[in-house]
Amino acid sequence: MKFSMREKRKKVDSLKKDFIGRDVSEIILLSFDEFGEDLAMTTAFGYSGVVLMSFIKETVPDLPIYFIDTRLHFQETIDLMNKIKNEWKLNIHHLYPNFSDEELDRIIGKKAYSTNPDICCHYRKVMPLLKILETKSAWLSAIRRDQFRTRARIEVIEIDGRGMIKINPMWDWTKNKVWFYVKTHNLPYNPLHDKNFPSIGCKPCTSQIKEGEDERKGRWKGLEKKECGIHISESSEQFIREMATTIDFTSFPTTMKSNNSEKSNISRGKTANKK
Ligand code: SF4
Repeated sequence: MKFSMREKRKKVDSLKKDFIGRDVSEIILLSFDEFGEDLAMTTAFGYSGVVLMSFIKETVPDLPIYFIDTRLHFQETIDLMNKIKNEWKLNIHHLYPNFSDEELDRIIGKKAYSTNPDICCHYRKVMPLLKILETKSAWLSAIRRDQFRTRARIEVIEIDGRGMIKINPMWDWTKNKVWFYVKTHNLPYNPLHDKNFPSIGCKPCTSQIKEGEDERKGRWKGLEKKECGIHISESSEQFIREMATTIDFTSFPTTMKSNNSEKSNISRGKTANKK
């Protein structure tokens, strides 16, 4: 269902009040009650994403979860994704770039990640995501305030820079709290996290960090860029406007593969009572 911006703001204000003091499971359930099949999650299978998926497994296991497979991920990330998909039986979908690598070489240049990472991220990550988001009313993400200054002001529910309702149930979790949860619940995680890769994206743009550095310091090392364009706040609208003047990204089809067919009757687990 599509909402006007006014309706979205009303919904966000009302849900924000309802989410206060709730745990992650309750926020997921209330979100599902509100948006049903128009709700989805995206993840790159970082340790926060794994925790959020563990809550989804217990509450709304059929919820569509989208992994943007840029074809440049570490093998460790792909292995973790396959493990979770097979063992947890979640409704995980791959989103691939709309173009083959050969086409991308022609359109944005070879190794565009080293010459123009914004364009590279836009073609490999943002364009596939946009095609999915336009079919949804709200999306869930595991991003947290303490990850980097670009995320320091996120809310539990907000309207993002594209005008989408975005729900961040782990917005106020700290790194230590997430790791405590991972360890005490024996959750699987990307082994690269144990090698000083706290934030893991595509292989060419992900580096190890030094002790005490910010979590996203190893992303696009040496550049100011610390976001790929997936998680943008309202204040980032300028970025989208600038990109939109150079790229007609709405006219391309999305190549979407899924090991599980899209399930239309999503079931839910526990109940979150309205306050
Ligand atoms: S993270 Fe790097 S390789 Fe991946 S899409 Fe962005 S610029 Fe390209």
